[in-house]
Amino acid sequence: MPDMYTKIPSLFMKIASIFLLLFSILAQAGTINDIRISQSNGLTRLIFDLSKKADHRLFPLSNPDRIVLDINNGVLSSRVENKLSTLSSGALAKVRTGDRKNGIRFVLDLKQKVKAKSSVLPPSGKYGNRVIVDLSYGKSTNFSTPVKTADNILNIKRDIVIVVDAGHGGKDPGAIGKFKIKEKHIVLSIAKELAKRINATRGFKAVLTRSTDIYLPLRTRSKIAREANADLLVSVHADAFTNSRARGASVWALSLSGKTSEMGRWLAQQEQAADLVGGISLDDKDELLAEVLLDMSMNSTIQSSLNIGERVVKKMDVVAHMHKDTVQQAGFVVLKSPDIPSILVETGFVSNATEAKNLGSANYRKKIARSIAEGIVLAFRETPPQGSLLAWEQQNKLAGSYVVSKGDTLSSIARRNSVSLAALRRANSLKNDAIRIGQKLVIPAP
Ligand SMILES: [Zn+2]
Repeated sequence: MPDMYTKIPSLFMKIASIFLLLFSILAQAGTINDIRISQSNGLTRLIFDLSKKADHRLFPLSNPDRIVLDINNGVLSSRVENKLSTLSSGALAKVRTGDRKNGIRFVLDLKQKVKAKSSVLPPSGKYGNRVIVDLSYGKSTNFSTPVKTADNILNIKRDIVIVVDAGHGGKDPGAIGKFKIKEKHIVLSIAKELAKRINATRGFKAVLTRSTDIYLPLRTRSKIAREANADLLVSVHADAFTNSRARGASVWALSLSGKTSEMGRWLAQQEQAADLVGGISLDDKDELLAEVLLDMSMNSTIQSSLNIGERVVKKMDVVAHMHKDTVQQAGFVVLKSPDIPSILVETGFVSNATEAKNLGSANYRKKIARSIAEGIVLAFRETPPQGSLLAWEQQNKLAGSYVVSKGDTLSSIARRNSVSLAALRRANSLKNDAIRIGQKLVIPAP
Protein backbone atom coordinates (compact mmCIF):
# COMPACT_ATOMS: atom_id res chain seq x y z
CA MET A 1 0.00 0.00 0.00
CA PRO A 2 2.60 2.59 0.89
CA ASP A 3 4.07 1.77 -2.49
CA MET A 4 0.95 2.90 -4.34
CA TYR A 5 1.03 6.24 -2.64
CA THR A 6 4.62 6.88 -3.48
CA LYS A 7 4.32 5.68 -7.06
CA ILE A 8 1.48 7.98 -8.04
CA PRO A 9 3.19 11.20 -7.06
CA SER A 10 6.43 10.08 -8.74
CA LEU A 11 4.58 9.29 -11.99
CA PHE A 12 2.85 12.63 -11.73
CA MET A 13 6.20 14.32 -11.21
CA LYS A 14 7.59 12.62 -14.31
CA ILE A 15 4.71 13.82 -16.48
CA ALA A 16 4.95 17.27 -15.00
CA SER A 17 8.67 17.44 -15.68
CA ILE A 18 8.14 16.35 -19.30
CA PHE A 19 5.64 19.18 -19.69
CA LEU A 20 8.04 21.59 -18.06
CA LEU A 21 10.80 20.51 -20.44
CA LEU A 22 8.47 20.99 -23.42
CA PHE A 23 7.47 24.42 -22.23
CA SER A 24 11.04 25.48 -21.72
CA ILE A 25 11.96 24.34 -25.26
CA LEU A 26 9.00 26.26 -26.68
CA ALA A 27 9.83 29.25 -24.54
CA GLN A 28 13.38 29.36 -25.84
CA ALA A 29 12.60 29.36 -29.55
CA GLY A 30 11.97 32.76 -31.08
CA THR A 31 10.72 33.56 -34.57
CA ILE A 32 12.38 35.68 -37.19
CA ASN A 33 9.23 37.48 -38.26
CA ASP A 34 10.58 39.61 -41.06
CA ILE A 35 13.72 40.78 -42.82
CA ARG A 36 13.63 44.33 -44.15
CA ILE A 37 16.21 46.09 -46.29
CA SER A 38 17.00 49.75 -46.64
CA GLN A 39 19.49 51.18 -49.04
CA SER A 40 21.43 54.42 -49.01
CA ASN A 41 24.65 55.63 -50.50
CA GLY A 42 27.29 53.03 -49.76
CA LEU A 43 25.20 51.34 -47.08
CA THR A 44 22.88 48.33 -47.30
CA ARG A 45 21.03 47.79 -44.04
CA LEU A 46 19.22 44.57 -43.14
CA ILE A 47 16.77 44.58 -40.26
CA PHE A 48 15.88 41.23 -38.75
CA ASP A 49 12.63 41.48 -36.79
CA LEU A 50 12.59 38.97 -33.94
CA SER A 51 9.71 37.80 -31.77
CA LYS A 52 12.06 37.93 -28.80
CA LYS A 53 15.56 38.85 -27.79
CA ALA A 54 18.17 36.42 -29.12
CA ASP A 55 21.94 36.18 -29.20
CA HIS A 56 23.62 36.55 -32.55
CA ARG A 57 27.05 36.41 -34.10
CA LEU A 58 28.34 38.03 -37.29
CA PHE A 59 31.50 37.26 -39.22
CA PRO A 60 32.90 37.71 -42.73
CA LEU A 61 34.19 35.13 -45.21
CA SER A 62 35.77 35.68 -48.61
CA ASN A 63 36.36 33.78 -51.86
CA PRO A 64 33.62 34.59 -52.60
CA ASP A 65 32.89 37.49 -50.25
CA ARG A 66 30.02 36.81 -47.90
CA ILE A 67 28.81 37.59 -44.41
CA VAL A 68 27.47 35.01 -42.00
CA LEU A 69 24.87 35.86 -39.36
CA ASP A 70 23.94 33.24 -36.78
CA ILE A 71 20.85 33.86 -34.68
CA ASN A 72 20.48 31.54 -31.71
CA ASN A 73 17.24 29.76 -30.84
CA GLY A 74 15.41 31.13 -33.86
CA VAL A 75 13.01 29.72 -36.44
CA LEU A 76 11.91 31.34 -39.72
CA SER A 77 8.39 32.63 -40.20
CA SER A 78 6.70 31.65 -43.46
CA ARG A 79 6.72 35.31 -44.41
CA VAL A 80 10.52 35.31 -44.31
CA GLU A 81 10.73 31.99 -46.17
CA ASN A 82 8.60 33.40 -48.99
CA LYS A 83 10.52 36.64 -49.10
CA LEU A 84 14.07 35.24 -49.03
CA SER A 85 14.59 34.92 -52.78
CA THR A 86 13.62 38.57 -53.32
CA LEU A 87 16.15 40.02 -50.88
CA SER A 88 18.79 41.83 -52.91
CA SER A 89 19.98 45.42 -52.82
CA GLY A 90 23.17 47.45 -53.01
CA ALA A 91 26.06 45.23 -51.99
CA LEU A 92 23.77 42.32 -51.13
CA ALA A 93 23.37 39.71 -53.88
CA LYS A 94 21.18 37.25 -52.04
CA VAL A 95 20.35 35.70 -48.69
CA ARG A 96 20.55 31.98 -48.00
CA THR A 97 19.64 30.18 -44.79
CA GLY A 98 20.47 26.97 -43.08
CA ASP A 99 19.65 25.30 -39.78
CA ARG A 100 22.20 25.13 -37.04
CA LYS A 101 22.17 23.00 -33.92
CA ASN A 102 20.65 25.82 -31.89
CA GLY A 103 19.33 28.37 -34.33
CA ILE A 104 19.52 29.72 -37.84
CA ARG A 105 22.40 30.68 -40.07
CA PHE A 106 21.99 33.39 -42.69
CA VAL A 107 24.60 33.65 -45.41
CA LEU A 108 24.60 37.04 -47.11
CA ASP A 109 26.15 36.67 -50.56
CA LEU A 110 27.77 39.88 -51.70
CA LYS A 111 28.30 41.73 -54.94
CA GLN A 112 31.40 43.42 -53.58
CA LYS A 113 33.59 43.68 -50.50
CA VAL A 114 31.83 45.24 -47.52
CA LYS A 115 32.52 46.12 -43.94
CA ALA A 116 29.82 44.41 -41.90
CA LYS A 117 28.63 45.50 -38.50
CA SER A 118 25.74 44.31 -36.38
CA SER A 119 23.82 45.92 -33.58
CA VAL A 120 20.65 45.15 -31.64
CA LEU A 121 17.65 47.32 -30.94
CA PRO A 122 15.10 46.79 -28.16
CA PRO A 123 11.34 46.92 -28.88
CA SER A 124 10.07 50.38 -29.75
CA GLY A 125 6.75 51.50 -31.22
CA LYS A 126 5.40 48.92 -33.62
CA TYR A 127 8.74 47.10 -33.76
CA GLY A 128 9.97 44.34 -31.48
CA ASN A 129 13.54 43.18 -30.88
CA ARG A 130 15.71 43.72 -33.93
CA VAL A 131 19.14 42.71 -35.15
CA ILE A 132 20.56 45.28 -37.56
CA VAL A 133 23.27 44.31 -40.05
CA ASP A 134 24.99 47.16 -41.84
CA LEU A 135 26.94 46.35 -44.99
CA SER A 136 28.99 49.41 -45.87
CA TYR A 137 30.94 49.64 -49.09
CA GLY A 138 32.64 52.19 -51.28
CA LYS A 139 33.75 55.54 -50.03
CA SER A 140 31.73 57.36 -47.41
CA THR A 141 32.85 60.67 -48.92
CA ASN A 142 29.56 61.03 -50.77
CA PHE A 143 27.58 63.41 -48.63
CA SER A 144 24.28 63.26 -50.48
CA THR A 145 21.14 62.86 -48.41
CA PRO A 146 20.27 59.24 -47.66
CA VAL A 147 17.25 57.73 -49.37
CA LYS A 148 14.14 58.22 -47.25
CA THR A 149 12.37 54.98 -46.49
CA ALA A 150 8.85 54.37 -45.31
CA ASP A 151 9.66 53.60 -41.73
CA ASN A 152 12.71 55.81 -41.60
CA ILE A 153 14.90 52.92 -40.58
CA LEU A 154 17.95 54.72 -41.89
CA ASN A 155 17.58 57.00 -38.95
CA ILE A 156 18.90 54.30 -36.69
CA LYS A 157 22.06 55.97 -35.49
CA ARG A 158 24.02 53.61 -33.37
CA ASP A 159 26.53 54.53 -30.71
CA ILE A 160 30.18 53.79 -31.29
CA VAL A 161 31.00 51.02 -28.83
CA ILE A 162 34.28 51.20 -26.90
CA VAL A 163 35.10 48.19 -24.75
CA VAL A 164 37.30 49.32 -21.86
CA ASP A 165 39.39 46.55 -20.36
CA ALA A 166 41.11 46.96 -17.00
CA GLY A 167 44.06 44.56 -17.10
CA HIS A 168 44.55 41.73 -14.58
CA GLY A 169 42.29 41.52 -11.49
CA GLY A 170 41.40 39.08 -8.73
CA LYS A 171 44.12 36.47 -8.20
CA ASP A 172 46.26 38.21 -10.83
CA PRO A 173 47.52 41.49 -9.30
CA GLY A 174 49.60 42.47 -12.35
CA ALA A 175 52.68 44.54 -11.65
CA ILE A 176 53.43 45.37 -8.03
CA GLY A 177 55.29 48.62 -7.59
CA LYS A 178 56.56 51.14 -5.12
CA PHE A 179 54.44 51.75 -2.03
CA LYS A 180 52.94 48.25 -2.64
CA ILE A 181 50.82 49.69 -5.44
CA LYS A 182 49.07 46.95 -7.39
CA GLU A 183 48.52 47.38 -11.12
CA LYS A 184 45.08 45.72 -10.98
CA HIS A 185 43.70 48.45 -8.68
CA ILE A 186 45.28 51.37 -10.56
CA VAL A 187 44.04 50.22 -13.96
CA LEU A 188 40.52 49.44 -12.73
CA SER A 189 40.21 52.98 -11.43
CA ILE A 190 41.49 54.45 -14.72
CA ALA A 191 39.25 52.14 -16.77
CA LYS A 192 36.15 53.17 -14.83
CA GLU A 193 36.94 56.85 -15.29
CA LEU A 194 37.65 56.27 -18.98
CA ALA A 195 34.30 54.50 -19.41
CA LYS A 196 32.57 57.37 -17.60
CA ARG A 197 34.18 59.90 -19.96
CA ILE A 198 33.22 57.93 -23.04
CA ASN A 199 29.64 57.49 -21.85
CA ALA A 200 29.44 61.23 -21.32
CA THR A 201 30.29 61.80 -24.99
CA ARG A 202 27.39 61.94 -27.41
CA GLY A 203 27.38 59.09 -29.92
CA PHE A 204 29.62 56.85 -27.80
CA LYS A 205 28.98 53.96 -25.43
CA ALA A 206 31.50 52.24 -23.15
CA VAL A 207 31.41 48.64 -21.96
CA LEU A 208 33.73 47.55 -19.13
CA THR A 209 35.17 44.03 -19.20
CA ARG A 210 35.34 44.14 -15.41
CA SER A 211 34.07 46.70 -12.92
CA THR A 212 35.27 44.91 -9.78
CA ASP A 213 38.40 43.14 -8.61
CA ILE A 214 37.81 39.84 -10.42
CA TYR A 215 40.03 37.61 -12.50
CA LEU A 216 39.25 37.37 -16.22
CA PRO A 217 41.12 35.11 -18.66
CA LEU A 218 42.50 37.06 -21.63
CA ARG A 219 40.23 35.39 -24.12
CA THR A 220 37.16 36.29 -22.09
CA ARG A 221 38.12 39.94 -22.56
CA SER A 222 38.15 39.78 -26.36
CA LYS A 223 35.00 37.64 -26.23
CA ILE A 224 33.24 40.43 -24.32
CA ALA A 225 34.41 42.86 -27.01
CA ARG A 226 33.09 40.66 -29.81
CA GLU A 227 29.74 40.17 -28.12
CA ALA A 228 29.39 43.91 -27.56
CA ASN A 229 30.13 44.48 -31.28
CA ALA A 230 32.94 46.75 -30.19
CA ASP A 231 34.38 49.35 -32.53
CA LEU A 232 37.46 49.41 -30.32
CA LEU A 233 38.93 47.38 -27.47
CA VAL A 234 41.21 49.44 -25.23
CA SER A 235 43.11 47.53 -22.56
CA VAL A 236 44.54 49.57 -19.69
CA HIS A 237 47.76 48.51 -17.94
CA ALA A 238 50.70 49.80 -15.90
CA ASP A 239 54.30 48.65 -16.27
CA ALA A 240 56.92 47.49 -13.83
CA PHE A 241 60.63 47.01 -14.44
CA THR A 242 63.58 45.85 -12.40
CA ASN A 243 65.30 49.17 -13.03
CA SER A 244 63.29 51.69 -11.02
CA ARG A 245 64.44 54.49 -13.31
CA ALA A 246 62.40 53.11 -16.22
CA ARG A 247 59.43 55.37 -16.77
CA GLY A 248 56.95 56.65 -19.34
CA ALA A 249 53.52 55.77 -20.64
CA SER A 250 53.07 54.03 -23.99
CA VAL A 251 50.40 52.92 -26.44
CA TRP A 252 50.59 49.56 -28.18
CA ALA A 253 48.96 47.89 -31.15
CA LEU A 254 49.34 44.35 -32.41
CA SER A 255 52.38 43.44 -34.45
CA LEU A 256 51.98 41.05 -37.35
CA SER A 257 55.08 39.11 -36.44
CA GLY A 258 54.25 36.23 -34.17
CA LYS A 259 50.65 36.22 -35.24
CA THR A 260 50.77 32.76 -36.77
CA SER A 261 50.83 30.80 -33.58
CA GLU A 262 48.02 32.93 -32.21
CA MET A 263 46.03 32.40 -35.37
CA GLY A 264 46.61 28.71 -35.00
CA ARG A 265 45.28 28.81 -31.48
CA TRP A 266 42.35 30.92 -32.58
CA LEU A 267 41.45 28.37 -35.19
CA ALA A 268 42.04 25.52 -32.82
CA GLN A 269 39.28 26.70 -30.58
CA GLN A 270 36.74 24.28 -31.81
CA GLU A 271 33.65 26.40 -31.59
CA GLN A 272 35.08 29.39 -33.40
CA ALA A 273 36.72 27.19 -36.00
CA ALA A 274 33.39 25.47 -36.58
CA ASP A 275 31.73 28.83 -37.13
CA LEU A 276 34.41 30.05 -39.46
CA VAL A 277 34.81 27.08 -41.73
CA GLY A 278 31.82 24.88 -40.98
CA GLY A 279 28.12 25.31 -41.52
CA ILE A 280 26.25 25.49 -44.77
CA SER A 281 28.28 25.77 -47.95
CA LEU A 282 31.27 26.89 -45.99
CA ASP A 283 32.40 23.34 -45.51
CA ASP A 284 34.64 23.30 -48.56
CA LYS A 285 37.03 25.76 -46.96
CA ASP A 286 40.06 24.29 -45.30
CA GLU A 287 41.92 25.66 -42.32
CA LEU A 288 44.64 27.24 -44.45
CA LEU A 289 42.13 29.38 -46.30
CA ALA A 290 40.45 30.40 -43.06
CA GLU A 291 43.87 31.45 -41.81
CA VAL A 292 44.43 33.61 -44.90
CA LEU A 293 41.04 35.26 -44.37
CA LEU A 294 41.85 35.97 -40.75
CA ASP A 295 45.19 37.36 -41.81
CA MET A 296 43.50 39.81 -44.17
CA SER A 297 41.05 41.10 -41.62
CA MET A 298 43.86 41.26 -39.05
CA ASN A 299 45.86 43.52 -41.40
CA SER A 300 43.15 46.14 -41.80
CA THR A 301 42.29 45.91 -38.11
CA ILE A 302 45.90 46.67 -37.18
CA GLN A 303 45.89 49.73 -39.43
CA SER A 304 42.77 51.08 -37.67
CA SER A 305 44.34 50.31 -34.30
CA LEU A 306 47.46 52.27 -35.26
CA ASN A 307 45.38 55.27 -36.39
CA ILE A 308 43.40 55.36 -33.15
CA GLY A 309 46.54 54.74 -31.10
CA GLU A 310 48.29 57.75 -32.70
CA ARG A 311 45.50 60.07 -31.52
CA VAL A 312 45.65 58.60 -28.02
CA VAL A 313 49.45 59.08 -27.87
CA LYS A 314 49.04 62.74 -28.86
CA LYS A 315 46.44 63.44 -26.20
CA MET A 316 48.26 61.49 -23.44
CA ASP A 317 51.45 63.37 -24.24
CA VAL A 318 49.84 66.49 -22.78
CA VAL A 319 49.43 64.96 -19.30
CA ALA A 320 51.98 62.15 -19.09
CA HIS A 321 55.63 61.55 -19.85
CA MET A 322 55.50 59.32 -22.93
CA HIS A 323 58.04 56.61 -23.60
CA LYS A 324 57.78 57.16 -27.36
CA ASP A 325 55.73 59.60 -29.41
CA THR A 326 54.37 56.88 -31.71
CA VAL A 327 52.33 53.73 -31.26
CA GLN A 328 54.51 50.71 -30.56
CA GLN A 329 53.76 47.21 -31.74
CA ALA A 330 54.01 43.87 -30.02
CA GLY A 331 52.22 40.56 -29.77
CA PHE A 332 49.92 41.04 -26.79
CA VAL A 333 47.35 38.28 -26.53
CA VAL A 334 44.49 40.52 -25.45
CA LEU A 335 44.86 42.54 -28.66
CA LYS A 336 44.56 39.59 -30.97
CA SER A 337 40.95 39.80 -31.91
CA PRO A 338 41.01 39.58 -35.71
CA ASP A 339 38.03 41.81 -36.40
CA ILE A 340 38.13 44.47 -33.67
CA PRO A 341 40.65 47.32 -33.62
CA SER A 342 42.45 47.10 -30.30
CA ILE A 343 45.02 49.13 -28.41
CA LEU A 344 46.82 48.55 -25.14
CA VAL A 345 47.70 51.56 -23.00
CA GLU A 346 50.55 51.31 -20.50
CA THR A 347 49.79 54.23 -18.20
CA GLY A 348 53.23 54.40 -16.56
CA PHE A 349 55.71 52.45 -14.41
CA VAL A 350 54.53 51.58 -10.91
CA SER A 351 58.16 50.55 -10.25
CA ASN A 352 59.24 54.18 -10.68
CA ALA A 353 58.78 56.29 -7.56
CA THR A 354 57.50 59.39 -9.37
CA GLU A 355 55.07 57.54 -11.57
CA ALA A 356 53.89 55.30 -8.72
CA LYS A 357 53.10 58.45 -6.79
CA ASN A 358 51.31 59.92 -9.81
CA LEU A 359 49.29 56.77 -10.49
CA GLY A 360 48.46 56.56 -6.80
CA SER A 361 46.69 59.92 -7.08
CA ALA A 362 43.03 59.89 -8.08
CA ASN A 363 43.46 63.26 -9.72
CA TYR A 364 46.27 62.05 -11.98
CA ARG A 365 44.33 58.90 -12.88
CA LYS A 366 41.41 61.10 -13.94
CA LYS A 367 43.68 63.18 -16.14
CA ILE A 368 45.12 60.08 -17.80
CA ALA A 369 41.65 58.61 -18.37
CA ARG A 370 40.43 61.87 -19.82
CA SER A 371 43.34 62.08 -22.26
CA ILE A 372 42.79 58.50 -23.46
CA ALA A 373 39.08 59.27 -23.96
CA GLU A 374 39.88 62.42 -25.91
CA GLY A 375 42.24 60.54 -28.25
CA ILE A 376 39.65 57.83 -28.92
CA VAL A 377 36.83 60.32 -29.54
CA LEU A 378 39.04 62.37 -31.84
CA ALA A 379 39.97 59.32 -33.92
CA PHE A 380 36.36 58.21 -34.36
CA ARG A 381 35.21 61.74 -35.15
CA GLU A 382 37.74 61.82 -37.98
CA THR A 383 36.55 58.50 -39.41
CA PRO A 384 33.22 57.51 -37.91
CA PRO A 385 32.09 53.95 -38.67
CA GLN A 386 29.17 53.57 -41.10
CA GLY A 387 25.79 53.37 -39.42
CA SER A 388 26.93 55.38 -36.41
CA LEU A 389 25.33 58.60 -35.25
CA LEU A 390 28.54 60.47 -36.02
CA ALA A 391 28.69 59.12 -39.59
CA TRP A 392 25.06 60.06 -40.09
CA GLU A 393 25.71 63.59 -38.88
CA GLN A 394 28.73 63.98 -41.10
CA GLN A 395 26.93 62.61 -44.14
CA ASN A 396 24.09 65.02 -43.57
CA LYS A 397 26.52 67.80 -42.69
CA LEU A 398 24.53 68.02 -39.52
CA ALA A 399 26.08 69.46 -36.50
CA GLY A 400 24.98 68.05 -33.19
CA SER A 401 23.40 70.15 -30.53
CA TYR A 402 23.89 70.35 -26.81
CA VAL A 403 21.82 71.84 -24.01
CA VAL A 404 23.96 73.53 -21.35
CA SER A 405 23.55 72.03 -17.89
CA LYS A 406 24.82 72.96 -14.45
CA GLY A 407 28.60 72.96 -14.10
CA ASP A 408 29.29 73.20 -17.84
CA THR A 409 31.75 75.67 -19.22
CA LEU A 410 32.19 76.45 -22.89
CA SER A 411 35.66 74.93 -22.80
CA SER A 412 34.49 71.72 -21.11
CA ILE A 413 31.77 71.32 -23.75
CA ALA A 414 34.34 71.93 -26.48
CA ARG A 415 36.70 69.37 -24.99
CA ARG A 416 34.02 66.70 -24.56
CA ASN A 417 33.01 67.06 -28.18
CA SER A 418 36.56 67.25 -29.49
CA VAL A 419 36.08 70.62 -31.15
CA SER A 420 38.16 73.71 -30.57
CA LEU A 421 36.85 76.47 -28.35
CA ALA A 422 37.17 78.87 -31.28
CA ALA A 423 35.09 76.63 -33.56
CA LEU A 424 32.41 76.28 -30.89
CA ARG A 425 32.27 80.05 -30.40
CA ARG A 426 32.08 80.59 -34.15
CA ALA A 427 29.32 78.02 -34.68
CA ASN A 428 27.20 79.74 -32.04
CA SER A 429 28.19 83.34 -32.87
CA LEU A 430 29.35 83.86 -29.30
CA LYS A 431 31.29 87.00 -28.49
CA ASN A 432 32.57 85.61 -25.19
CA ASP A 433 32.48 82.35 -23.22
CA ALA A 434 29.43 83.17 -21.11
CA ILE A 435 26.73 80.47 -21.33
CA ARG A 436 23.60 79.84 -19.31
CA ILE A 437 21.90 76.65 -18.13
CA GLY A 438 19.32 75.49 -20.66
CA GLN A 439 20.98 77.29 -23.56
CA LYS A 440 21.07 75.20 -26.75
CA LEU A 441 24.45 75.12 -28.47
CA VAL A 442 25.30 73.92 -31.94
CA ILE A 443 28.22 71.47 -31.88
CA PRO A 444 30.08 71.87 -35.17
CA ALA A 445 31.35 68.81 -37.01
CA PRO A 446 35.09 68.56 -36.30
ZN1 LIG B 1 49.49 44.67 -17.17
